[in-house]
Amino acid sequence: MRKIIIAGNWKMNKTTVEAIELANGLKRDLYDIDAIGIIVCPPFTAIDEVAEVVYQTNIGLGAQNMHWEDAGAFTGEVSAPMLKELGCGYVILGHSERRQYFHETNETVNKKLKSALKHGLTPIVCVGESLEEREAGRTFDVIRDHVTNSLKGLDKEEIKKVIIAYEPVWAIGTGKTATPDQAQEVHRFIRDLLEKAYTREIADEITIQYGGSVKPGNIKELISQKDIDGALVGGASLDVKSFAEIVKGAQ
Ligand code: PGA
Repeated sequence: MRKIIIAGNWKMNKTTVEAIELANGLKRDLYDIDAIGIIVCPPFTAIDEVAEVVYQTNIGLGAQNMHWEDAGAFTGEVSAPMLKELGCGYVILGHSERRQYFHETNETVNKKLKSALKHGLTPIVCVGESLEEREAGRTFDVIRDHVTNSLKGLDKEEIKKVIIAYEPVWAIGTGKTATPDQAQEVHRFIRDLLEKAYTREIADEITIQYGGSVKPGNIKELISQKDIDGALVGGASLDVKSFAEIVKGAQ
């Protein structure tokens, strides 16, 4: 049985003071949830303080990006060992905003993924098509390209440690959610790709989250789909009440 995991991607939101407040609110509202995995991904500047708030609770901690090298002359970057030391267990990789605005490619995502695994961080690897690609009928080609090349070269043990997030770019921050059927179709496609590359058993073990305008009002429908194992939540993760409702709605 795959565990359902709800992760909050705070993006470039929340000063450290605000982040502590949000984390404390979630800790209070969600302390008794144990059937579902809960992760928060604050901006780098707030990770250390949020780590203290969620230490030894049911809330996991993640970063939103990292560099693939451990250390060196990479001005402005942060590495896996730095995140590990702060208490991170997870890292989001290849988010569409990083692919779009910061020139991330499957190749850089793959390097980051290997570094994350080497250092014991669980990667949440994002894949997803743009509106233009969907309208041109290229959704499955894009997903195949993202999945195959971002996850390239992982062995059977490594792939089992990866979380995949399907995030159609046209649904991120737009209020437009993929319909549960549209999302399920792509999730099934991703699982089939994993089956071809590995085995049926392995494909069945991997958590595939959906992301893109997930809200308290649509989580139940999404989660009821056979191959949707959780959500990566942006906007609605910035408020205690809405994120807690999403987590509870996914139970
Ligand atoms: P959204 O963002 O929930 O605000 O659409 C999701 C994401 O980008 O991870």
